[in-house]
Amino acid sequence: MRIVRIQRERGSIPLWGWVTDDRVGLLEGSPFGEYRRQPAEFALPGLNLVAPLQPGKIVCVGKNYAAHAAEHGSEVPELPLLFLKPPSSVIGPGETIRLPPQSSAVEHEAELAVVIGRRGRWLTSEEAPAHILGYTIGHDVTARDLQQLDSQWTRAKGFDTFCPIGPWIETELDPSDALITCSVNGQLRQMGSTRDMVFPVHELVAYVSSIMTLEPGDLILTGTPSGVGPLLDGDEVTVEIEGIGRLQNPVRAETVAG
Ligand code: ZN
Repeated sequence: MRIVRIQRERGSIPLWGWVTDDRVGLLEGSPFGEYRRQPAEFALPGLNLVAPLQPGKIVCVGKNYAAHAAEHGSEVPELPLLFLKPPSSVIGPGETIRLPPQSSAVEHEAELAVVIGRRGRWLTSEEAPAHILGYTIGHDVTARDLQQLDSQWTRAKGFDTFCPIGPWIETELDPSDALITCSVNGQLRQMGSTRDMVFPVHELVAYVSSIMTLEPGDLILTGTPSGVGPLLDGDEVTVEIEGIGRLQNPVRAETVAG
C-alpha cells in the first residue's frame, strides 16, 4: 500500500490517504495504529501531497556505499556511522530546498528512507522487518563546505528544507535491490542500487536500536550512492527509487529577512 498525507486547504491539518493507481482514498485512523480505508474518491493529480509523515527522530547513515566513501577519499567504517537531522529540516514533494547564505557548496544525496512502524530496542536483523512500516524517498541535502569544516555535521545537515521526503510511504518494497537515481535539471547525477549498501537495511535498523529506542514515525536515511554534486539556485532536483516513485523539489537561494 502507498500511504500519503494530503492537505486540502492551505494551513489545514494534513489527512492520511492511500493511493491506488492515480486515485486516493482517505485513511480513517492512523497507519501507525488502527486504520480503515475509505473509497478512493479523489484524483491524485489534483491533490496537494505534503511530507508523508512528520518524523520523530531522523537517523542518518554516512558512508554506507563504498563508491561514495571513495569519492570523498575515505574508507567505509567498521560500524555504521550515524548522525541526526532535525525534524525541522523536513519538507514534502514540490517544496523548495533553500540554499542558506552560510554555504557555497550545497549538494544532493539521494537515499532510501526507512519508516519505523513499531517501537523497539535491541532488535536483531531478523526482528527488524516487523518494526518497519515501509519506505519512502529521503534526500539528505548537505552543505559540503560546512561539513568539511566541522567534525560534527549538525550544521551541514540540519538547515531548514534539507530533508525532502516523499511522495508516499510504500509498505511493500523489497529493500535489498532497489535502484536509486538522482537527476538535476534532467541530467543524471547519481545511480546506485541498495544491494551495494555496506550495511543493509535490516542490519541498520538493528544497529540503531542497540543505541536508541526506535519509535513509530522515526525515519532512518540509509546513505547515498556515489555521484553527489552541487545544487544551484534555479535547479530542479529529482530523486527516484524503483518500486517507490519520484520526489521532485525546486532549489532556490534563501533570501534572508531583514
Ligand atoms: Zn547522506
